[in-house]
Amino acid sequence: MIVSGTESTSQKFIALEERYGAHNYHPLPVVLEKGKGVFVYDVDGKKYYDFLSAYSAVNQGHCHPHIVNALVNQSKNLTLTSRAFHNNILGQYEEFATSFFGYDKLLPMNTGAEAVETAIKIARKWAYEVKGVNENEAQIVVCENNFHGRTTTIISFSNDPVARDNFGPFTRGFIKIPYDQPDALDEVLKNNPNVAAFLVEPIQGEAGVFVPSDDYLSRCKAICDAHNVLLLADEVQTGIGRTGRLLASCGNCSCVDKNCSDTPDVKPDVLILGKALSGGVYPVSAVLANDEIMSVIKPGNHGSTFGGNPVAAAVAIAALEVVREEHLAEKADQLGQLFRAKMNDYIAKSKIVTLVRGKGLLNAIVINDHEDSDTAWNICLALRDNGLLAKPTHGNIIRFAPPLVMTEAQLLDCVSIITKTLATFEPV
Ligand SMILES: *Cc1c(COP(=O)(O)O)cnc(C)c1O
Repeated sequence: MIVSGTESTSQKFIALEERYGAHNYHPLPVVLEKGKGVFVYDVDGKKYYDFLSAYSAVNQGHCHPHIVNALVNQSKNLTLTSRAFHNNILGQYEEFATSFFGYDKLLPMNTGAEAVETAIKIARKWAYEVKGVNENEAQIVVCENNFHGRTTTIISFSNDPVARDNFGPFTRGFIKIPYDQPDALDEVLKNNPNVAAFLVEPIQGEAGVFVPSDDYLSRCKAICDAHNVLLLADEVQTGIGRTGRLLASCGNCSCVDKNCSDTPDVKPDVLILGKALSGGVYPVSAVLANDEIMSVIKPGNHGSTFGGNPVAAAVAIAALEVVREEHLAEKADQLGQLFRAKMNDYIAKSKIVTLVRGKGLLNAIVINDHEDSDTAWNICLALRDNGLLAKPTHGNIIRFAPPLVMTEAQLLDCVSIITKTLATFEPV
């Protein structure tokens, strides 16, 4: 279909989605047709800084040439074999990624939610076959306000009514505890020998970028170890350089940009990755674990037609090479500190922004208004008009997560766009 005319071009594309697409999202009204590095361009050619990075999938920047080349080259040779046969890329990718993150084995999937499902299945099977939990009695501990994806099992342990309501009946076997409270975990594990695993986000991204205490994960790991419970880290959003380290939990990975001064190293028993594992070029997710755990999975137990396909494998290798070669974790750390410092300068004089929080380049500001006010949405519309795209996470919280390939000059330019825009919302 050809759509022409400039003034209402965006409106036409929006109307098509509205008319023919399910209404399962509420996008900011902007229609993008091109991306390059930290920038995206709309159908009228207007340029924006991308301050969402597709929920941290595009850490390496839009259309990174190294990753796109991997996609193009591999897709000319072989795209899909299924796992009924071997292919010559999957094993190379598994070797590369396991050594990159410091685990024995990798199980390839496509989306983040599938990787979380995979981790849950591995943990349950481990509980029955290794820990000795009675059949159908395994429990998994999760946190309040978690976000782990959208499948029926995953929403079963969400407490977001919008994600849950009228999607029951729900999957059993989950226990919810407050986030950032290791004592609550200890209490549950003491009283429940059937717990297989604790599933946690190192920083709660969707909930509004809640950063736990520095020693939260290390305390949780110690508590899990004491009770023979697996720590499953969902690093789908926090991983791959986003928070200023290769992983927010870090572990003994081979991260060259390790910057672990403030938060102690924790090596999760099961590491869940997605999003930026492909640089946003292709859906690629993975679960990593050591042999004692991964060996519970036998042929036929689990799989995916597209999981581990040659294109995904080639793309993921390239995406990780970019993270290492361009020192993206280190950059996220430095730029994140600068960003929060600049925002704090603004907040000191602001009546509408109460705080900035985050780690690396995963940050959010909180608007001084009630949760269902439309101020944050209106600020995002004004930011769009001023050339920067961001979106509220929950009501009055705006997440700021640009691609990690940003330069310091670009970041300062963005700070100036953000503060000038916010200033127009200050009461006079
Ligand atoms: C985005 C996200 C997921 C789900 O990933 P999808 O690819 O959308 O299925 C899971 N966990 C976390 C922490 C996420 O941010």
